[in-house]
Formats: sequence, structure tokens, C-alpha cells
Amino acid sequence: MQIRDKIYINGRWIPSLSTRTLPVINAATEETMGQVPDGTAEDAAAAVAAARAAFDTWAATPVEKRAEYLEKISAGLTARADEIARSIAGEVGMPLKMSQRIQAGLPPLVMASYAKLAREYQFEEKIGNSLVVREPVGVVGCITPWNYPLHQVVAKVAPALVAGCTVVLKPSEIAPLTAFMLAEIIDGIGLPAGVFNLVCGTGAVVGEALAGHADVDMISFTGSTRAGKRVSELAAATVKRVALELGGKSASVVLDDADFTKAVRATVNACFLNSGQTCTAHTRLLVPEARYAEAAKLAVEAAQEFTLGDPLALDTRLGPLISDTQRERVRGYIRKGVAEGAELLLGGPDAPAGLAKGYYVQPTVFGRVTEDMTIAQEEIFGPVISILTYMDEDDAVRLANSTVYGLAGAVWSQDEARANRVARRMRTGRVDINGGAFNMLAPFGGYKQSGHGRELGRYGLEEFLEVKSMQLPQ
Ligand code: NAD
Repeated sequence: MQIRDKIYINGRWIPSLSTRTLPVINAATEETMGQVPDGTAEDAAAAVAAARAAFDTWAATPVEKRAEYLEKISAGLTARADEIARSIAGEVGMPLKMSQRIQAGLPPLVMASYAKLAREYQFEEKIGNSLVVREPVGVVGCITPWNYPLHQVVAKVAPALVAGCTVVLKPSEIAPLTAFMLAEIIDGIGLPAGVFNLVCGTGAVVGEALAGHADVDMISFTGSTRAGKRVSELAAATVKRVALELGGKSASVVLDDADFTKAVRATVNACFLNSGQTCTAHTRLLVPEARYAEAAKLAVEAAQEFTLGDPLALDTRLGPLISDTQRERVRGYIRKGVAEGAELLLGGPDAPAGLAKGYYVQPTVFGRVTEDMTIAQEEIFGPVISILTYMDEDDAVRLANSTVYGLAGAVWSQDEARANRVARRMRTGRVDINGGAFNMLAPFGGYKQSGHGRELGRYGLEEFLEVKSMQLPQ
């Protein structure tokens, strides 16, 4: 049991002003594995005041010094990687092997990448008679979701800190435990008081307090499109900068000359990663009408290999969903898919056999999905893939772009120039070509209702910088 009864403000662990707590539930056992404070708007305000007071000195601290702190945080995360992987396997339900690689493995790399990037970054340039300088945006409120709980925190906190901003972090109240570990690491390396602050609680209370606070200069938000819209509304009152990383409904476009076995298999893998609880999940498999039967067979075969079970067991490829609420939501979408006429090729809404506890959903494949169906338009966030067919290349592009989202996607073709051409026509922030791997230095973010702003790499750093031009005498 991980009991957290304090929040981290101004370099100290202090009690929340709330006496209420929130339980953290293990997704596979349904048992309580932890507890955190259910914080208040006053907690958020105290953290903002600390961040404001620390800002001027931190902003004036040399980049080299800030980069050194990041390297120490990175080392601290690496030292606690096993604990982090296990905690997230419990909270989120991701199989341990994947949790080790992604949930625990990625954050120290991203943290260290920002130390290097900041050292290399040109913060100043001359344009004619002007000196253009990039300065930290100020106090940043970071609001993060539960699906990659530490990665999403680090993708904001690392660039914000190295840019010279001070931070108030409000992690997801559903998977908050690794944010507390990060705060302990930060406390241990002696980062100046008030530069990083952690408050905990619900979005409606602590999240909204940050979004509306006059002393917060920027909100960096990752989560649902619904909450992102609300954050934008609240932030508008004080004209805050807002970066939004929201939902997705990404298409994997398999062109007629692609290696179908490889493409379909990889698409199913990209859809079912973290039980489908990935914002970039390739949830729509787009195949030529003439090759539908072949693609459907391959998708079912690939999905059947996702052995459901205990995230801690070595042969598990599909863990539970994070919560009862998510499970019911996903089952609701599966029922809707059936009701609207899609062909259920594998899985379904019923509880999987032999798993009495845990928020499990069967790996599910829908065939003959059409673009007007709910399951072709809305983010399901579960292990559910929809196969749609297209007539020609133009139709494939049209279909890929036919949702309100624009986060990610994939294109498969033996002809790389053709794949590249189709990728350029997709209205999304990321496109993987023929299985191109995740790149933690490449910009990450969405078009359309998937949000605005970019995280990771140099683009992610620039999100936290203001631009000032100083006109010099001739
Ligand atoms: P969520 O929107 O419910 O919560 C995300 C965070 O926002 C949490 O910390 C929550 O407490 C807070 N929040 C909720 N309502 C708020 C409000 N009114 N004001 C301020 N803060 C509020 O989302 P979730 O269920 O935690 O995460 C799943 C969603 O996140 C999915 O839609 C997924 O696609 C999206 N997501 C997007 C990305 C991306 O980078 N684009 C990455 C991961 C997840």
C-alpha cells in the first residue's frame, strides 16, 4: 500500500488543506493499492504562489545549471525504474514487461534528452537591428492523464524546467503514484524551493483552479478533448497560453501494394498497446475493398495472440483496463458497434472467461465498419479495432481524415514515395511509414480536435518559451 498524505509545495512535504483522500485501485485485482490527498483549490493556490515566488531566480539560473538538475532527476528515475514499472503495472494494468520498457524506461531518457537539447539550443538570434531572445513563459500548470502517467508528466516538466519556467503539477487522480516518486527524486537533488510543486486532486477542483488562476501563465494539458475544451475556456479569462494534447482516432492506411501480413499485424499491435489506452492507438484499419477478407483474417489472427491476464505474468500481452468506468465505457462502444451493424469478428462485450477480478475486456475486432458508425468516429480507449474499406487512394485519404481528430496515423506501401505522398495528405501530427519507430525527439501533438502545441524534442522546449525582440540602435 502506498499511502501519500502530503503534497509538495515550496520544497517541503506539507499536508493538503483537505482531509479527504482518493483511493488508487489496482486494475487487475480491484484492491486498493494506494491513497492520495483529494486536494483543494487552496492547495493549488499555495503551489502557484510558491512557483511565482521562485520564478525570477530560476529564470535567471544559467541553462547549464538547469540542465545539470535534469540529469540528476534522470538518474533518480533510472534508479527507481523497477518500482515505477511495478506501480504503473498495478495502477494502469499494463503488462510488466511493457511497463518496464515504456512507462519506466522512457521518462529518464526524455528527461536527459532535455538537458542535452537545452545546452545546444540557440536562445538568441540577431535579425537585422534586433536581438531576439527566448525567455521562459513563467509559471506553468501541468495537468496530466493516467494512461502513460509518468511519461506524460516528464514530457511537460522536463522542458518547462529547463526552459526556466516554474511548475505546478497536477497528475491524474487515477494513477498518481509515480508523480509522488518524481517529487521525492526532485526533493532529493535539492532543486530550489518552489521551482517544482505537486498538488493532487480531481480535475474539477484542482485542475480548474490552476486553469483559472491569474498567476499561472500557461497550462500544458494532456487528456480528453472534453476536459481540454473546459481548460481552454477557463484559461481564456486571463489569456493564458494553452497547450493541449487530446484524444485521437488514428487510421492505419494499408495501400494495395503493402505487405499485408506485416501491416495488419503491426496495426493490431499499435491498437492494443496498453489495452488500447493510448492516444495514438491505430484504431482504424483501412484496407482496399478487394482485399477485405484477407485483412480481416489477418487482423483476427493477430488479435487472438493477445493473451489476457495478470499484468505481472510473463506471458500476458493484454492487461485489464484501468477502471470499472473505462471497462463499462468500452463495453458500451462494443454493444453500439454491434447495434449499428458492424460485423463482430472477434471478442465482444461479455466478460472474458476465467478472470473473476480485474477490469478486463476481450480483444475485439470489428469488420465492415463504415465511417458513419460511432465506433469509426469516437475514441474508444480499449482493445477494439475497426476495419473499414476504401475504393482507391483518394478515398483512403478522405476516410483517414474523416474524424474530428488528427493525432497520428500510419501508411503502408512497398512504394515509399507513394506512402510518403499519402502521409503528407493526412491531417495528423504524426504518421508512421511502414512501421517507422517512435522517436522521442520528434514533435508529438495533434491537428484538429486532437489539440494544439507540440511535445518532445526541440518543439516541446519551444512551447515553454516566450519571444522578445530588442531593437538595437544602428
Ligand atoms: P481526462 O481529461 O479525464 O483527465 C486528464 C487530466 O485532466 C486529469 O488530471 C484530470 O484530473 C484533469 N481534468 C479533468 N477534468 C478537468 C477540468 N474540468 N479542468 C481541469 N482539469 C481537468 O482524461 P483521462 O481519462 O485521464 O485520459 C484519457 C484521455 O487523454 C483520452 O481521451 C486520451 O486520448 C487523452 N490522451 C491524450 C494524449 C495526447 O498526447 N494527445 C496522451 C494521453 C492521453
